[in-house]
Amino acid sequence: MIIGTSSVTSAAALNDVSALENLHHELNQHPWQTYQDLQTQAEQFEEMSLEYKLWWLNRKAQAENLLFLFEQFQQTVAKAQDLITPDTPAKLTSQFYIYSGIIFQRQGKYQNAQKLLKMAKSVAESNNFTYIAVQAKQELAYTRSLTEFYELSLTELQQAYVEAFAFSDDYLIAKIHEVYGAIYGYMHDYEKSIEYYKKSLISYQQLGYPSDIAEAINGLAATYRYWKKFDLAIDYYQRYEKAIEFSPHNVDGKFYAAYGIAMSQAEKGDCHQALKSIDKALNLKGLIDYKAEIYKRKAQCLITFNKLLDAEVALDKAQSIFANIPELIGTHWQIEVIKIRAELAQVSGDSNQAYQLLKEYNQVQTALIKKNSSDKLLRVRGKLEHERQNVEISLLQQRAEVQKLQYEQQKQKNNFQTYLITFSVLFALMVLVFVFFQRRHNKKLLALSIRDPLSELYNRRYVFSFLNKLVSAIDTEKSQVSIMVIDIDNFKQVNDHCGHPFGDYVIREIAKIGQETLRAEDIMGRVGGEEFLCVLPRIDAEQCMHIANRFVKNVNSHNFKIEHKANEQQVANITISIGIATTSLEVEDYTQLYAMADKALYHAKKNGRNCVVKYSSEMTESNQSYFGLSHPIHEDS
Ligand code: GH3
Ligand code: MG
Ligand code: MG
Repeated sequence: MIIGTSSVTSAAALNDVSALENLHHELNQHPWQTYQDLQTQAEQFEEMSLEYKLWWLNRKAQAENLLFLFEQFQQTVAKAQDLITPDTPAKLTSQFYIYSGIIFQRQGKYQNAQKLLKMAKSVAESNNFTYIAVQAKQELAYTRSLTEFYELSLTELQQAYVEAFAFSDDYLIAKIHEVYGAIYGYMHDYEKSIEYYKKSLISYQQLGYPSDIAEAINGLAATYRYWKKFDLAIDYYQRYEKAIEFSPHNVDGKFYAAYGIAMSQAEKGDCHQALKSIDKALNLKGLIDYKAEIYKRKAQCLITFNKLLDAEVALDKAQSIFANIPELIGTHWQIEVIKIRAELAQVSGDSNQAYQLLKEYNQVQTALIKKNSSDKLLRVRGKLEHERQNVEISLLQQRAEVQKLQYEQQKQKNNFQTYLITFSVLFALMVLVFVFFQRRHNKKLLALSIRDPLSELYNRRYVFSFLNKLVSAIDTEKSQVSIMVIDIDNFKQVNDHCGHPFGDYVIREIAKIGQETLRAEDIMGRVGGEEFLCVLPRIDAEQCMHIANRFVKNVNSHNFKIEHKANEQQVANITISIGIATTSLEVEDYTQLYAMADKALYHAKKNGRNCVVKYSSEMTESNQSYFGLSHPIHEDS
């Protein structure tokens, strides 16, 4: 409920027009209830401000128009007109011009109607009241169509349609569709007429506007009638009778329904039914020019029943009605009277008069057809349809544009996802490559950390830790480990005579000879300046002795070449001494084993060098060590 329903509205509320201004939709949806609500303020009319009065009358008029209470509508509009001054807000002035136009239109005063609707249009346009301007144009177009100025009305309607479309007002668009329906109906383009009426009906149903729903149904009924689909017409007129029930005091609506049913039955040729319906319709209050139509049908039906005098009376009634509506003279509605008179004359036996009347009728009718079906009209119609299609196409284009944008957005999203996936894959690859190189680097680092750079043999730390693990793990009863400690003989002299670089070369050559002499599973490390340690797993003292002797022999037979400046080559005499030791139950750990080999080496040196000495327990007592080391690990390389 938008406005108060209590019997007394406060004085403040009677000055605030905003509630009334916002009543449009509510009114269209529930015209009867809203009308009742408005009526509760009728007693307080004199207490209202002038602007409130006019808004109130405006809404009241609108309700009465929707409820088909045309007499009240006319009175309300007249009351408002007395209150309108040059200071009245243009919105109200233009709205009342439209109402006045509609009143004249219903009275058949089409020129006056057009004049007022044009005024409404110009006031609305100069104040940018698009809604009222479009409404005025639509009513103007409809009024023009009633006087068969189809060209003009279609042009007007086309403009209104484009504006309503731009304004995107579904109600106005539906209203315009309804008028298109009416105009195409008058132009005998029934299929189009039905199409437009149905469009408007759907919109009205969606909006829930009962008055407009009823009007669209009435339009459909009328078109089916013009199309001579009488059963459909009667069906729709009966639907119309039901559709107007929302307005309990609707006299005119009842008349239209009765009129439609009567006319359809008569035109179908069902004169028996039709005459009953005709009398019913004539007894109802209704529009005078419609009654003229009923009189024509009545005359025709009476002619078929050979009631010629009654037929003539009916025809006279029709003729006198047309005589009072100048705008209708010369229209097909009016000239049909001549045709029926010709029929009457024929049936009466007055062939001459029948002939004269028919001739007259044909002349006027030919002129009328020419006027309405001129090439220009056809062109205009074509153009207008084209323009309509353009408007619709541009809307579709806009929609396509939106869809395109949405598609692009989606595409971008997909692209982003693709980039993300590509990036992730690349990143993963980079990580893999990094890890690969890192591992290689680590391997290198590891190699560097366990290798002696000069001889490329294992370094002191590695070879001793290897020996430690091996000796700790070994089951002495089952297996043995032997080691060889090697020292190059008189190396100081080698360095002194042949230079330090040659000394380095000798160290590298001894390393090579050692590796060639040992088995694959034996390992050799450089543990001091020109001292080496070889670890031989699963080798007993005897076997080790054999390998060590071969090592000594191989060094003896090797050519250690001394390069001279004059490109002469000299061979140096290099020898090594080796002390060996093998694990046994008495050996507790690797340091002990190493000390044993060290002692053996001492003996080898003492024995004159270039030989191998195996450790023996007698050596323990002498307690002599070549290197003088008890714990080799702590001496770092
Ligand atoms: P011995 O037969 O008793 O072992 O006699 P020696 O001269 O070899 O005696 P000693 O083992 O004490 O001498 C080792 C020498 O080796 C001392 C040093 O100048 C030399 N030396 C140590 N490390 C290197 C090295 O990396 N390169 C070279 N060219 N000489 C080294
Ligand atoms: Mg030495
Ligand atoms: Mg030495």
